[in-house]
Amino acid sequence: MTILDVFTDNVRAMQPYHVQSSAGMIKLDAMEMPHKLPEEMSQALGKFLSMSNLHRYPNPTSSSLVSKIKSVFHLPEDLSIIMGNGSDELIQIILMAVAKTGAKVMSPVPSFVMYQQTAKLLDMEFVGIDLEKDLSLDEDKFLSAIEKYQPAVIFLAYPNNPTGLLLDKLFIEKVLQKASGLVVLDEAYAAYASQNTVSLLEKFENAVLIRTFSKIGLAGIRLGYLVSNPLICEQLEKVRMPYNVNRLTKAAARFMLDQMRYIEDSVKRVLAEKEVMFNWFSEQDGMTVRPSEANFLLVKVADADQVFQRLRDEHKILVKNLHKTHPVLDNTLRITIGTEVENHKLRQALSQIISA
Ligand SMILES: *Cc1c(COP(=O)(O)O)cnc(C)c1O
Repeated sequence: MTILDVFTDNVRAMQPYHVQSSAGMIKLDAMEMPHKLPEEMSQALGKFLSMSNLHRYPNPTSSSLVSKIKSVFHLPEDLSIIMGNGSDELIQIILMAVAKTGAKVMSPVPSFVMYQQTAKLLDMEFVGIDLEKDLSLDEDKFLSAIEKYQPAVIFLAYPNNPTGLLLDKLFIEKVLQKASGLVVLDEAYAAYASQNTVSLLEKFENAVLIRTFSKIGLAGIRLGYLVSNPLICEQLEKVRMPYNVNRLTKAAARFMLDQMRYIEDSVKRVLAEKEVMFNWFSEQDGMTVRPSEANFLLVKVADADQVFQRLRDEHKILVKNLHKTHPVLDNTLRITIGTEVENHKLRQALSQIISA
């Protein structure tokens, strides 16, 4: 007997979520927006935050923020919204609410790791359906697996992290039809994608949308939101901790939702830079890049471990090395689009590494 016996087998077997140390580095590893808020906006935000009643608990219903989110992101009025401390927490809320003995969670793999991690923590069985070599999903295989496993929750990242690809919307409709449980459409990269799945929310009772402020310049405030019909949200609300999102976060979100022109401009700058980077990668010998509907690119190189390490150690540039995380990601790096200057430095560093 040791004190460690008190912990569940799953917790003991788990690896902690590893965040690479990034002090002094160019950070192209976590899909953050590379631009800092302009000084003037930052000052105004500070003033706005200073008016928060920090001696009071946050308002649990967040109704003014909810209305603002609905109007800014053109979400149907009759749907309900739940706020989370990042969409990570929303994933946890969804899974806690359905974690019956034997309940299964399904998603394509590779996809966002928190689906699997959180399912396992809750002693749920995770069924991962492997993507094909070309990173596409075998739709028939996925639909048969739904029939076979009857998952309580299916996660579909739209677009997917780490592939950057969108599933076919007709396929998503088939999934929604076939599934007897919830189908969570994770649109963390909605701002960068050419399409979204909002229209499916009113059409299918089991559709749940989750989004985040993290990829549009506000990763530091930790705010996500979930959209679904009132029937489903009423159940999920019971699982949410009453004060899960703090006053400063909600105030910052309210402030920034009045600055959508700025956010949209930042997104456009990132998209323009993505095109520059995509074209550059396409022209390089020894590197293959894939089209992406998000703010990152997947790049295959000859030796990902070596390129990753040299970028980090010699050039102080941090990217995500996906080598050995899944067979379809062999020698693949996931590179978040940075500022013009950062991307230029990355190109120079890569030219040097590849030519040597
Ligand atoms: C980044 C990301 C999230 C995480 O969102 P937070 O709101 O920062 O917790 C969720 N889903 C996908 C697919 C992501 O890539």
